[in-house]
Amino acid sequence: EASAKAAAASADNGGPTIFDKIIAKEIPSTIVYEDDKVLAFRDINPQAPVHVLVIPKLRDGLTHLGKAELRHAEILGHLLCAAKIVAEKEGIVDGFRVVINNGPEACQSVYHLHLHILGGRQMKWPPG
Ligand code: ADP
Repeated sequence: EASAKAAAASADNGGPTIFDKIIAKEIPSTIVYEDDKVLAFRDINPQAPVHVLVIPKLRDGLTHLGKAELRHAEILGHLLCAAKIVAEKEGIVDGFRVVINNGPEACQSVYHLHLHILGGRQMKWPPG
């Protein structure tokens, strides 16, 4: 049932997410950048001409940004550096947006921390 599915999808229960399968390459994704710590791949439902997700390969408790602790500082910085690399590769350095949806009120649906990199069109402010 649709609402139950939505509730399950939005549960922050620390269980596996679809991103585990993407990291394991068990389901296909279009990879834009990858190194030993992070993976960047195209969003399946793009909200802009460029819409890439950047995720840590090891979730390490970071279901969402609200779980961040100082021990995560290195990977959090690494994710932002990867965002800049993605923007360069995609040719959007002159204007791009980095978004982290944190929790239900921000419409987070996958509980594996991820940065949305959006660009290739004029952005609006405030976001919806
Ligand atoms: P929202 O779904 O509201 O954007 P999130 O911030 O949790 O919430 O974003 C999860 C993102 O993951 C969505 O933009 C969704 O399109 C994307 N996504 C889900 N499954 C896949 C997949 N298999 N491949 C690529 N992107 C995916």
